[in-house]
Amino acid sequence: MKLADIIREVQNLDDMTQQRLLSYLQNALEVSIHSKEPLIEEIAERKNEKGFSCPHCQANNAVRFGKYQTKVGSKSINRQRYKCKNCSKTFTDLTNTPLNKTRKLDKWLKFIECMIEGHSLRKSAELIGDVSWVTLFYWRHKILSALEQIPTDKFSGIVEMDETYFLYSEKGKRNIIGREPRERGGTSDKRGISYDQVCVLVARDRQKITLSTVLGKGRIVKKKLDMKIGSLLSAENILCTDSWRAFSSYAKEKKVEHYRFKSDGKIRVMKGIYHIQNVNNYHSRLKRWMNRFNGVASKYLEHYLAWFRFIEIEGFTNSIKNLKHMMVTSCLYPIQETNRLLRTSKFIL
Ligand SMILES: [Zn+2]
Repeated sequence: MKLADIIREVQNLDDMTQQRLLSYLQNALEVSIHSKEPLIEEIAERKNEKGFSCPHCQANNAVRFGKYQTKVGSKSINRQRYKCKNCSKTFTDLTNTPLNKTRKLDKWLKFIECMIEGHSLRKSAELIGDVSWVTLFYWRHKILSALEQIPTDKFSGIVEMDETYFLYSEKGKRNIIGREPRERGGTSDKRGISYDQVCVLVARDRQKITLSTVLGKGRIVKKKLDMKIGSLLSAENILCTDSWRAFSSYAKEKKVEHYRFKSDGKIRVMKGIYHIQNVNNYHSRLKRWMNRFNGVASKYLEHYLAWFRFIEIEGFTNSIKNLKHMMVTSCLYPIQETNRLLRTSKFIL
C-alpha cells in the first residue's frame, strides 16, 4: 500500500478512530525515539537534586570523576563517573538502580511498557526480542524492589481496612519435600484460614492513599498490624473494618473511632458514609489482575503488590508520561538486589 492510499484510508475513518490512531502514532514514535536511551539524564537530575549524591554513603558532596564508555544497543556512549568526597568510592548514575550493569539498556523502556500491560515474562520476551524471559525475571524484580520502597503517605479521614488471603506458594522452587509444588495457586486442603494462607492487608482512605502489604502466614496478629500501619494512622482517623477481633482491639488501642461490618453482608453502609466497599473492590481488582500469573511465589508477593499499586495509580495506561514515570521512579530508590540475591531470597514471616 502506498502512502497516498494510507492517507486516503485515514481520511475515511470516523473522528473517534482518527483520534485513536493519532495517539497510537504519538506513542509509537516517541517510544522509538526514547528507546535508545532510557532517560538517564532525567534520572540523574532527579537523583542529584541536592548535589551529586553518593549511593554508598548518601552524602551529597561527590564530584565528577572522568567518563566511562558504555554500549547502548550498537552505539558507544560516554557516561559520567563520580567520586564521593566522603567515602572515596566511585559510582555512576546507574549504581544501585535496576539498570546497573545491564547490557541491554535499549530494551528497558519496552519492558516497562510490558509491565504496565501486565504481560507475562514469556510474552514480554517475545515482544521485546533478543532478550530471554529469565533475564526479564531479574529486571522485573529489580524494578519492583525499587517500587516497593515508595513510602505510603499518612492516611486522612476515613480509612477502610480489610485483609485478604493468598495461598502460600513456593512456585519456582524445585523438589519441595513432602508435597507437590503448587504451580497454579491451587486450593488449600485445610478449612478456613490456616497457616497455608498468606495474609495481605489493604488499607485505603478516601483520597485513595493505599497501603497493601503482606502480614505473614495465617490470621492477622495485632503486633504485625501495628508494625505495618501504625505510623500511618492518627487519632483523627476513623477506621472501617470487618468484624475480625484483631481489628477491634487494635482500634481501641489506637483510640480511633471504629465501624465494624459483619461478613454476612446485612449492613453494608453505616450513617451513609462508613463502609468497606472501596477496599473490597480493591481486593477484587488485585486478585483479578494477579490471576494472570497463575499463582506467584509468596516470597515475591510484596513485589506484586507494589507493582499493582503503582500501575493502578497510573490507571494501567501505557502513555509516554507513565512509561517515563515508572522508569525514572524505579531508579530513585536504591536497590541492593543482585540476580543471585533475588534467586536465593526466602519468604520471611
Ligand atoms: Zn560516599
